[in-house]
Amino acid sequence: MFRIHGHGPTVSMLEHSLNGGHLHHAYLLVGPEHVGKTTLAVQLAQAVNCTGENPPCLECNACLRIAHAQHADVLTLEVNPGQESEGRKSIGIDTIRELQHSASLRPYEGRKRVYIIQDAERMSLEAANALLKTLEEPPPDVMLIVLTSDIDSLLPTVISRCMQLELRPLPVPEVTQLLQDEYNVAAPEAEQFARLSRGCVGWAIQAVQDPEPAAALHQRLERIASVCEGDLDHRFSYADDLARRFQRDRAAGREELYLWLRWWRDVLLILQGQTEQVIHVTWQETLERLASNVSPAEVVRWIHVITGTLDALDQNANARLALEVMMLELPGVQVARARA
Ligand SMILES: [Zn+2]
Repeated sequence: MFRIHGHGPTVSMLEHSLNGGHLHHAYLLVGPEHVGKTTLAVQLAQAVNCTGENPPCLECNACLRIAHAQHADVLTLEVNPGQESEGRKSIGIDTIRELQHSASLRPYEGRKRVYIIQDAERMSLEAANALLKTLEEPPPDVMLIVLTSDIDSLLPTVISRCMQLELRPLPVPEVTQLLQDEYNVAAPEAEQFARLSRGCVGWAIQAVQDPEPAAALHQRLERIASVCEGDLDHRFSYADDLARRFQRDRAAGREELYLWLRWWRDVLLILQGQTEQVIHVTWQETLERLASNVSPAEVVRWIHVITGTLDALDQNANARLALEVMMLELPGVQVARARA
């Protein structure tokens, strides 16, 4: 039995295919980070190789070995953070060729060889085309599970060869309840983590078990708050740091801009009196101060500036220049200048 938080209809459908013996040879799991894609992929790999009852039993030798990445027939291809440099895709043709070679062999210890491809949007064009061949003519006893948080960056031909399953974030109250019931988190804290997770339950669970990600997020927000209320020098030095981060790790750089979007979405919600939907509840005071200096129209315009910057960066604009221009548009700058 699959054991996963949320995604009921998707799991039922997979169980139905599993019991009926008509699983697809390739699945594409689409959804934001920490929503449960990896958990589902691993349990699917366990399900097809499980030797217990009611697969995936999660307890038999095969299930345990797969959970600990020790099963010879289940391989996860993943990109280490920082491995990607600007403009370069980090899952190359060699990786996919190795996959193709091992996929042509019979399963070694299990029933099916399963390949889990993490962050598939990072495949180079060559790699994606090579993978396409495997998807078009899959060897017997092979299952491919392709994971992405950015389906627009995949080749349409790759998408069309896979059975697509979309994993959506869970409702925040559901995550709050889960943290209270299964992780003994007190109500206010549970709600705070649930909101910060934006329904991506994996993030929330990680945050209650390990304070590090929440602390890191707090630090990033602290910097954003100080940039919003700081002078131009402050903004440019931030733009410089962020440009460097983009060059080191594109995904992390993009994530920082998404954080800006969520932060200003909160400001907009406050301006509209919808405080119950604010994500960064612990920053309410700062957000309210920012809201008191801007109009909703200015915030909307600024949000468009951020998304425009993300687009420009995707098209390989000069990161430093694009981010400096963005920082010049930050609303409330006159206020900050007057104070500075
Ligand atoms: Zn099992």
